[in-house]
Amino acid sequence: MSVTTFFLLQIRRLSGAFLSALILLGLLLPVTSYAQWFRYTDIAMTTPVELEFWFSDQGVADAIAEDVLAVFHQVDRDMSRYREDSELSVVNRQAAEQPVQVSAGLFRVLKRAEDVAELSGGAFDISFGSVGYLYDYREHQQPSEDDIQARLSHINYQDVVLDEAERTVRFRQKGLLVDLGGIAKGYAVDLGIEQLVRAGVQHARLSAGGDLRLLGDKRGRPWLVGVRDPRSEKRNAVVLPLANLAISTSGDYERFFINEQGERVHHILSPGTGKSVRGVQSVTIIGSGALTTDGLSTAVFVLGPEKGLEMIEKLPGVDAIIIDDQRVMHFSEGLAPPEPTH
Ligand code: ADP
Ligand code: MG
Repeated sequence: MSVTTFFLLQIRRLSGAFLSALILLGLLLPVTSYAQWFRYTDIAMTTPVELEFWFSDQGVADAIAEDVLAVFHQVDRDMSRYREDSELSVVNRQAAEQPVQVSAGLFRVLKRAEDVAELSGGAFDISFGSVGYLYDYREHQQPSEDDIQARLSHINYQDVVLDEAERTVRFRQKGLLVDLGGIAKGYAVDLGIEQLVRAGVQHARLSAGGDLRLLGDKRGRPWLVGVRDPRSEKRNAVVLPLANLAISTSGDYERFFINEQGERVHHILSPGTGKSVRGVQSVTIIGSGALTTDGLSTAVFVLGPEKGLEMIEKLPGVDAIIIDDQRVMHFSEGLAPPEPTH
């Protein structure tokens, strides 16, 4: 064998090995190195919905995302008070006449709303609709003092009677109107995360406006979640490293206008006065599920820093960050920096 033939043979053998290696790699590639972050956005429940997750296959990822985003449109169809044909609107029209049987999903949200109402001594109250519906933040409309006084007695969560065995809801008085704007987005986020888990996703971030839930971590690192400065869209008041948690923020900057008296008229109302709550700019709640953190963020906003933190300290696994109207930040004990020892 000449030296040249020997080398040619070696090269051929090498390229054979090289080829098989390439084929093997080709087989492995779709399951290993094609995994990446997929991102999707949508608008539903009058708010931006954002989804981000780690997955291996573009086609399957697109199908998963479609299912998750569909959840928000479905919850909106069921629970929006702006849709005449929503399940919630049927309840609002009929529940003062007779008990109305509702879906398991709507019942679950109504039940949790009742729990948060009781926990917060009525600061969270979904029956604020009779007065709440008179505000139009886009059109800069607010009810007169007389209109508010005429309807205040219709706000009382205790007049929304739930029957667990029959899965019905009944209103104890006419004129009462329920609105789930303070809790339904958190519910949809929880449902979306359940879908992602069922699809085998392990790392995801899903948000609808101010309600966010994280599935797992960001592959070996925590997710970084910014709590925005209530008076500047571009600045964060604080950035939190988090994993596997829900976080909801309620702010006086989401839906508001400044009226002729120079007052900020915003969408979180005191059930006692029928007017926008004063004293707080934003409340952020961290907990395990978004249904709970969504309801609690609205509740703490109404209660204010002192009573709000008192309530949060009694709830295991729940923390709060409150930014008051002087822009002072209040933290629950689980987040507070250590006190100096000297
Ligand atoms: P966002 O809707 O911006 O996420 P929140 O979770 O704080 O903010 O919800 C605010 C919404 O909650 C309002 O738009 C209204 O639909 C509803 N809401 C306002 N005041 C109350 C209240 N006292 N109790 C329960 N829900 C309320
Ligand atoms: Mg809320």
